[in-house]
Amino acid sequence: MLQQKTYHIVGGGIAGLTAAWYLKKKYPQVRSVIYEAGEHLGGRAYSYDDKGLDVRLDNAVHAVIRANRFMSAFVNKEEWIAKVPFMDMESGNLDNSFYKHRRHILKSFCNTDAEKIAPSIKKNILRQTFPWNRSRRQVWFSKQDLSQRIINLLAGYADEICLNSRLLKISSQFGLAAQLEFSAGTVDIGADDRVIIALDNLSCSRILDIIPLEHNQIVNIIYRTSQRIFLPDGTPLLGIINGIGDWVFVNGTLLSVVISDYASREEKLSDIAMKIWREVDKIRGVNSGFMPPYKAVCNKNAVVCQDELNNRRRPSDALTKYPNVFIAGDWTMRDYPCCMETAALSALRAVKTAVKSI
Ligand SMILES: Cc1cc2nc3c(=O)[nH]c(=O)nc-3n(C[C@H](O)[C@H](O)[C@H](O)COP(=O)(O)OP(=O)(O)OC[C@H]3O[C@@H](n4cnc5c(N)ncnc54)[C@H](O)[C@@H]3O)c2cc1C
Repeated sequence: MLQQKTYHIVGGGIAGLTAAWYLKKKYPQVRSVIYEAGEHLGGRAYSYDDKGLDVRLDNAVHAVIRANRFMSAFVNKEEWIAKVPFMDMESGNLDNSFYKHRRHILKSFCNTDAEKIAPSIKKNILRQTFPWNRSRRQVWFSKQDLSQRIINLLAGYADEICLNSRLLKISSQFGLAAQLEFSAGTVDIGADDRVIIALDNLSCSRILDIIPLEHNQIVNIIYRTSQRIFLPDGTPLLGIINGIGDWVFVNGTLLSVVISDYASREEKLSDIAMKIWREVDKIRGVNSGFMPPYKAVCNKNAVVCQDELNNRRRPSDALTKYPNVFIAGDWTMRDYPCCMETAALSALRAVKTAVKSI
């Protein structure tokens, strides 16, 4: 009996899941198996039940802009935000000029100081994704539903999903990858099979000969208020200029503040949470007196630092030293900002390259 051709996809984040989605859409005759080290899918874009705040949360608030063609397909039309105001904490001025605050926006796109971002990444953002025209300017942000809205939908396209399966090593024979050694056992790679390694950069560097890149941090502070919170003009999303936080997102009784490209400091996150709550008070023009329950998370290896040096070290294609193994992941696309859209694009590139290699 002929063995069905299998695509072994290692990593169950956006890149790995998109690879399974694309295979099912374009090549329904092949079988896809996702191997994920963790207990859940989604990678850096997952949702979980937080016991402390007694609410379901996303790992971090994720924003998608309308110019992100792949990711925007998952967003409800009614949820697009057309006008994003910015408040300057020094002057107290409120405006909505994307152009004036382009450095602030670029920093968030790349989680890297705007001055340091590699020019080729900036160029790509400006050409492809920067919201110059009104429709592309629209933004969506995740409301504790990344799994429901994106992850579970994509996961439905995989033929098999193996959780708690951490790839430890690839064994080769005659120059080709022959076996995948997982924490849960070994998988043989058939002659016609292909492997897509869709891992974050640090995990990938432990498996393949790939340089571990420098990463930048992101801090998320989520406050759970007893009553619905309103920002100026009733906006659910506001950019903070010259403040400690960079963005504030409101979703019912949850208010999240993001600090992009967070530089570690002596100060404890609890003290920062208190200062930011005062900042939120100032934005709202109130004095709430006390800080509501909150959760502060520092994602240490949030995304790759997108300066020139790191960008040059990123791969320019999906190829690896094994002709039957291909890489995907947000960091694998040199000259692109590291985000969900790029993770998805990298998966399309990896599958296309793998298919051509046959
Ligand atoms: C705090 C934060 C905020 C962000 N904000 C935004 C945003 O607003 N908008 C946006 O578009 N993007 C944002 N991002 C970036 C976005 O989350 C990533 O670009 C995207 O999720 C990357 O997907 P990926 O599949 O490439 O990698 P990952 O999500 O890292 O997936 C890799 C998967 O591989 C698994 N794995 C690791 N090692 C192994 C192994 N040895 N064997 C098997 N499995 C393994 C991991 O568990 C993980 O599930 C943010 C990221 C963070 C951390």
